[in-house]
Amino acid sequence: MGYVFATFQSLLATLRQGLATPSTVEYPKAKRPRAPRLRASFALTKDAQGDENCIGCKKCEKVCPSEVIAVVASKKPSPVTGKPRAYATDFTLNLQACIVCELCVQVCPTDAIVMVQEQEGPGFDRGDLVLTMEKLYRNGESKERLAWSSASVLGEHQKPAEAPAPAQRPAHAPVPVPAASAEPPGKEPAA
Ligand code: SF4
Ligand code: SF4
Repeated sequence: MGYVFATFQSLLATLRQGLATPSTVEYPKAKRPRAPRLRASFALTKDAQGDENCIGCKKCEKVCPSEVIAVVASKKPSPVTGKPRAYATDFTLNLQACIVCELCVQVCPTDAIVMVQEQEGPGFDRGDLVLTMEKLYRNGESKERLAWSSASVLGEHQKPAEAPAPAQRPAHAPVPVPAASAEPPGKEPAA
């Protein structure tokens, strides 16, 4: 008889859970508000004229402690100005070993690489976690996904606070001279 009672208990628990208000949301259909400084993935940005901000300087590649960034650079005419300038011709960032330190963002001289708040979708093999240049520029097109900061903003935050003006020193007071001893040094005074 005990197992019948246990079966009904289990069914009751299942029914209770089935009717309870869910405490989870169906991501990515529903997204909970995110902390303003959450950083989950990356994007490459373009300027107001639509020209790529990345100049292929490789600073992000050199600073990355996990060595997950690879940049190939060369010069080519800008589609906006027609003048030759440096570009990244290939840019990959492998999310598998990224430690989300944001150093790559901090060193970028042109605010070309930024972090975004939205995670990448689930991957089914390791290659899915490699962000190609195409994917990075696609991430940059959706402004609401951009995270809170860029190299310029971070630079402002890291500026040392203004040092207070040195206080006016008072004029040197005359150094007090000790009173001359009646006895020469080393000689015991007379009893
Ligand atoms: S966040 Fe850090 S570990 Fe990730 S790519 Fe940038 S520099 Fe490399
Ligand atoms: S993203 Fe920035 S730091 Fe990296 S290569 Fe491009 S310009 Fe240089």
